[in-house]
Amino acid sequence: MIDPFGRRISYLRVSVTDRCDFRCVYCMAEDMTFLPKADLLTLEELDRLCSVFVAKGVRKLRLTGGEPLVRRNVMSLIRSLSRHLKSGALEELTLTTNGSQLARFAGELAECGVRRLNVSLDTLDAAKFREITRWGDLDKVLAGIDAAQAAGLHIKINAVALKGVNDEEIPALIDWSHGRGMDLTLIEVMPMGEIGVGRIDQYLPLSMVRANLERRYTLTDLPDNTGGPARYVRIAETGGRLGFITPMTHNFCEACNRVRITCTGTIHTCLGQEDATDLRAPLRASNDDALVSEAIDRAIGTKPKGHDFIIDRRHNRPSVSRHMSVTGG
Ligand code: SAM
Repeated sequence: MIDPFGRRISYLRVSVTDRCDFRCVYCMAEDMTFLPKADLLTLEELDRLCSVFVAKGVRKLRLTGGEPLVRRNVMSLIRSLSRHLKSGALEELTLTTNGSQLARFAGELAECGVRRLNVSLDTLDAAKFREITRWGDLDKVLAGIDAAQAAGLHIKINAVALKGVNDEEIPALIDWSHGRGMDLTLIEVMPMGEIGVGRIDQYLPLSMVRANLERRYTLTDLPDNTGGPARYVRIAETGGRLGFITPMTHNFCEACNRVRITCTGTIHTCLGQEDATDLRAPLRASNDDALVSEAIDRAIGTKPKGHDFIIDRRHNRPSVSRHMSVTGG
């Protein structure tokens, strides 16, 4: 699968549910309306759709959400998809999770061949954690991370940099993550979906964060670039890696190798644009995969060059109407 700009698409991110057991203030409005269950692809349909992508050249599959581990029976999907790891068709099967259910599922995930997880965690302060997530319990997430590490899973922590909320705490997050052998990636907040507050009140440019960190740590740029949007540094004092995902201050769309599908079977070929193509109808129209395969090719043929997120006083509204929970980041 090659898009109009010559980028090979080898990475699929799948939002298996739009529901979540948290309501992070930068991700969702407090009162979210979720999709009716009848609109969702079944787990069997998700498996089939993912398998079509694998047959077309996807080498890395990431399940996300909403919260992927709150979808009922999601482990049966993961177990089934793991056949593509065994066959060698897929290099990696992984998840992005808020960690709330990890204590329960970590062992099974490892058994299914999952090797790495991204866990989203913006603060280590329990009261602040509750404020950010509205509903979350920090102790449960920390227990989930313990369980995942005990099961041998490699964890990367993702933290959204939030002005006036966790900016002071970033060194503590670095020391804690690196002290436990985990990479940490910082993410700029993106103007996706109506959340009831202006983005300007949340947005903290990572260029500023980096300048502050350089007063405290020795940062060395690392050449390793996984094709993703993060740029990494090594921190001499901790020995660990710190990533920066900077869709606002600097995007890396030229190397984008990914597309996203939602739990209703819509493909979005760019996180930051409104482009969308339905794959559910062609999937359901025939047991043969030819129709859906053609629909995927058509969608990839329209992949935009990149996103144009802006947050400033004049652009304090969503750039993209859908919430991050629709595509899972
Ligand atoms: N529930 C899972 C989790 O918490 O990781 C997966 C879905 S969540 C939408 C994926 C990631 O997107 C999380 O790291 C979250 O912090 C991040 N995120 C959500 N809304 C965002 C926004 N507007 N800008 C930047 N990152 C956002």
